[in-house]
Amino acid sequence: MDFKPVFHPQNRPILIAGPCSAETEEQVLSTAHGLADKGIDLYRAGIWKPRTRPGAFEGIGVTGLSWLRRVKEETGLKVTTEVATAQHVYECLKYGIDVLWIGARTTVNPFSVQEIADALAGTDIPVIVKNPVNPDYKLWVGAMERLHKAGLRRIAAIHRGFSTYGDSKYRNVPRWQMALNLMEEFPGLEVICDISHICGRRDILAETAQKAYDLNFDGLMVEVHPDPDNAWSDASQQITPEQFGEMTRSLVLRSATSEDPGYREQIEHYRQQIDEFDEEIIHLIAQRMHLVREIGYIKKDKNVAIFQPERFRALADACRLRAEKGDLSREFISLFLEAIHQEGINQQERIMNDGLTESTTKGDLWMND
Ligand code: PEP
Ligand code: MN
Repeated sequence: MDFKPVFHPQNRPILIAGPCSAETEEQVLSTAHGLADKGIDLYRAGIWKPRTRPGAFEGIGVTGLSWLRRVKEETGLKVTTEVATAQHVYECLKYGIDVLWIGARTTVNPFSVQEIADALAGTDIPVIVKNPVNPDYKLWVGAMERLHKAGLRRIAAIHRGFSTYGDSKYRNVPRWQMALNLMEEFPGLEVICDISHICGRRDILAETAQKAYDLNFDGLMVEVHPDPDNAWSDASQQITPEQFGEMTRSLVLRSATSEDPGYREQIEHYRQQIDEFDEEIIHLIAQRMHLVREIGYIKKDKNVAIFQPERFRALADACRLRAEKGDLSREFISLFLEAIHQEGINQQERIMNDGLTESTTKGDLWMND
């Protein structure tokens, strides 16, 4: 997919800010005036609010669109709101909303996304697509594909984290790798980090924003309210326009590269060694899997089950100890062990079920070199 930028390519970071919900005309205008001199690229306010459970404030509806029109007239800011149906799209087009965004609870539903894409066909309005509530990369890309197929090109993505069950520091866990995959697969796509919905609380907004900058996101979406504690939705994660200004000023922006002549040389020095280690790691894993397959043949022969929980536990404990000494995080080593273990199981399963004979896998790519 080829994308055109939604935002001015020279302006980085992109900043999108505004209240979670448009509540009153006064609140929408005072937030906008508070943000007008804070260097934002786009003013956000939700008019239709899809809430997880009924009973909460579900948005002011069409009335709010005229408030956003006033924001444009009075401050010159461009404005955006969330759309979830074709009707929302038509209303936004009527009121001259500059950019539309698709929320996490809508991206998850291909019927809804298709309805929006059909309503937008023939227009050139920019659309920002939030990730679906669940960590499904294909659903996220699929939503952008539907818009692309409808002829839209000015498309950007917002990473807002993924819902989770149980305790977490975050309201929506970031799973950063998924956003990084998106950046890698679509280099021309602007990817913005919605720190407010990831964090769900004010005290970790700044550190999360810095993390997003460090990971080379194109910008931030931040919920801003004149009186955050009394906001009608998402009160605990909103900040005032002043706090927004302070936070964005305090962040260190990293550039994609450096013009310093020594930079390339220094980095190359380490990268070469890393490449060598990576080659060695893959070689070792391949050798390890060869042994796993040998065990697979023995288990098959003696009719023994593939999964041996005690063996895995002992192996995992030993690896964790070693990993701790090597300064590797617990989270990483768990993921690593899981992946290694799963690959081992898959390889043995193939031996057990596909009737492979030893000789067919012996000409192993790595064992012979
Ligand atoms: C929002 O931006 O206020 C919102 C509802 O976000 P999400 O779709 O990411 O939950
Ligand atoms: Mn919100």
